[in-house]
Amino acid sequence: MKHLIPYLQDGRKAADYLRQLRWPDGVKCPRCGSDAVEPRERCDNGLQRFNCVPCAVRWGQQFAMFTDWTSSIFEQSKLSPLEWLLVLGLWQLKLNATEIAAAADIQERTAQRCINLLDGGIFETYHLDPARQLEHHVEADECYQSAGSKGLHREVERREREPRHRGLQLRGRATAEMGRPPLLGLVQRRDPTDQDAPAAQVYLEVLENVRSATIKPIIAAKVKSGAQFFTDEYNIYHFTKADYDHRTVNHGAGEYARRDPDGTCVHCNTMEGIWSGLRNFLDRFKGISQRFLHLRVARYEFLHNYGHLNWRQTFEAAMRCIFSTTGDYLRRMTHQHRRMPLTLCYR
Ligand SMILES: [Zn+2]
Repeated sequence: MKHLIPYLQDGRKAADYLRQLRWPDGVKCPRCGSDAVEPRERCDNGLQRFNCVPCAVRWGQQFAMFTDWTSSIFEQSKLSPLEWLLVLGLWQLKLNATEIAAAADIQERTAQRCINLLDGGIFETYHLDPARQLEHHVEADECYQSAGSKGLHREVERREREPRHRGLQLRGRATAEMGRPPLLGLVQRRDPTDQDAPAAQVYLEVLENVRSATIKPIIAAKVKSGAQFFTDEYNIYHFTKADYDHRTVNHGAGEYARRDPDGTCVHCNTMEGIWSGLRNFLDRFKGISQRFLHLRVARYEFLHNYGHLNWRQTFEAAMRCIFSTTGDYLRRMTHQHRRMPLTLCYR
């Protein structure tokens, strides 16, 4: 995060840098989109105020003010641009709230709120982006992540059972209801012949269960038809024969990779590697709540997919996503006090 150092000198420099990332082609009014804006005096924390001339005319007022952060996820925040810039850098280092609070010298609750805003922004604009699709060689696999309803009394009551005990061993395929939500992972293998190819692109989804009916709309939305599709023998993937060149490895029989007569390498090892990276990342959160699991997973997904870029490019890509959301997803989620069902996302 060395490139942030010049902007961390004072609040104005931090605000100027973030403004440049929000409006690379010049400041536009967040209400009407006009660029007929005039800078006014700054706020105490360094944010620039602007007056939008067309809005002022329309309202019949002398001024129609907005700031660098109007209509962004930072709008309601009490943190200064300087503090936010530091938090953003630490967020990209995959730190948890405790570590960010200590490093940025802010309250832990504030740090928690910050990472939820940032992860929520990435989830809303990057994870849910319908334009992002996988093609060519795609592996699919599922894994299970322990996640409870920590601190969510309402959620525990709703389930009408005792709170989950840590380390509980469950038999059979786990579900979110049992405290071990499954994750579906889809990965497009990196093309080894192309030097400039991006990192292997992944798509990670937190599920309620691993029934075919749950995963079918996700795979249909995220994997282009005609792709080669690699899975293990698990029968939930059988429906993919219709739209994909579906090939399986038989883990039960000790087969983990094989080369078919047409030269295709059949395995799920790319996805296995990503699972171990994801587990390492999630372990940092020391007992993760089911309510926020999908947000943390979205951060990992984003940072993994931009892993081939340098730190600054990844930072600026993250900021483009974060400035294109208004935090609406997180507000609705907070209002519902639980993760929104997937059916809202795939329709
Ligand atoms: Zn305006």
